[in-house]
Amino acid sequence: MRTQVVVIGAGPAGLLLSYLLRSEGLDVVLLEARSREYVRKRMRAGVCEQPTVELLREIGLGTRLDAEGLRHEGFSLRFDGSDHRVALTELTGKAIMVYGQQEIVKDLIDAHEAKGWPIEFEVSGVSLSGLDTDRPRVDYRDVTGVSQVVDADVVAGCDGFHGISRPAVPAGGLRAFDRQYPFAWLGVLAQTPPSSEELIYAHHERGFALHSMRSPELTRAYLQVAPDEKLADWSDDRIWSELSLRLKTDADFSLHEGPLLDKSITPMRSHVVEPMRYGRLFLAGDAAHIVPPTGAKGMNLAVADIRVLSRALVELLQHNSSELAESYSDTCLKRVWRAEHFSWYMTSMLHVDPDADVFQHRLQLSQLRYTASSRAAATSLAENYVGLPFA
Ligand SMILES: Cc1cc2nc3c(=O)[nH]c(=O)nc-3n(C[C@H](O)[C@H](O)[C@H](O)COP(=O)(O)OP(=O)(O)OC[C@H]3O[C@@H](n4cnc5c(N)ncnc54)[C@H](O)[C@@H]3O)c2cc1C
Repeated sequence: MRTQVVVIGAGPAGLLLSYLLRSEGLDVVLLEARSREYVRKRMRAGVCEQPTVELLREIGLGTRLDAEGLRHEGFSLRFDGSDHRVALTELTGKAIMVYGQQEIVKDLIDAHEAKGWPIEFEVSGVSLSGLDTDRPRVDYRDVTGVSQVVDADVVAGCDGFHGISRPAVPAGGLRAFDRQYPFAWLGVLAQTPPSSEELIYAHHERGFALHSMRSPELTRAYLQVAPDEKLADWSDDRIWSELSLRLKTDADFSLHEGPLLDKSITPMRSHVVEPMRYGRLFLAGDAAHIVPPTGAKGMNLAVADIRVLSRALVELLQHNSSELAESYSDTCLKRVWRAEHFSWYMTSMLHVDPDADVFQHRLQLSQLRYTASSRAAATSLAENYVGLPFA
């Protein structure tokens, strides 16, 4: 088989890239290891920053987002027993949209199917070769187990942090920067209306908690736990009682409890590889960088990478101009490192580091109080949270 671009991975990055390139008339093969049903249901990010929302509207994928997404103009920092609102829209003129990542994934899969653009689900044994030549090659087995070979002009590695694209780069081809955190997030989805109209980021001596939502009927919540915590040790009752302790205020706050539909534990890390390219392999999204989820930046960064990459590949493959492809990595890494810093800052300010001493706790509280009381500090946080404009 011969194609222009092989996209590995049908998460938000791969689906969006395939959609944008095919809309411009490019020939794309999109390969995904998991089943269609699994990918459509996989629950992850929920916060879309303003530039992500604008891009989705611009490319004709904003209808359901605008109908079902929840526009938020602020969120609460909860500490010292009370709420301190970060007024996103008042401070920046912008807002965020709560719209689940799996809804964006569904919209993209539906858009592919409506246009008759195939996605190969349940492929296995994907391997890359010839990445430093003009004709990289992708080997894989299709859903029926038959071996396939594709010769391409370009391979886009959009296969997440545990994919095969990044490890396919020979030793010395990439430099990795990594930071692991001494905690993880226990996340739950509950069949109960949210207890607050806006997100609550709570700093508590027992650890961080986040109260969020997916719809007017579904609550999403997270608890800071130890990285080696076992899900089996967390009964539904224990989760609700811990959330209730960490979200308690001096005023009246009552947590709406309900059946838990989903529970998971996610480790927290920061990771970046440079450059986000090796020869004819371009890395995008979680395949190139990971942020701790506290800043709600992971999916938004994936979208931002793809905006740059799609333009670069159209220029390269349709107009034989390599300028944007050459600058792809540098362009993306500026935004990536800003998001890395913001995600690290939110994580450090809100979580309880088990190794921290009292001095560090005092510094952390001072930062929270400053953010809550200074318009300049709150504006800086808000500007990053709603998403900096695309360069
Ligand atoms: C609990 C949690 C909460 C989060 N909250 C937020 C949030 O609020 N806001 C935010 O912006 N981000 C958030 N994130 C991060 C966000 O979900 C990721 O950054 C986003 O999924 C990245 O998209 P991606 O397409 O790059 O990678 P992925 O979504 O990981 O997609 C990669 C795809 O590649 C496929 N794949 C892997 N290996 C292969 C292979 N060998 N062959 C073929 N296919 C392969 C995978 O099955 C997958 O479908 C959160 C993440 C988690 C885990």
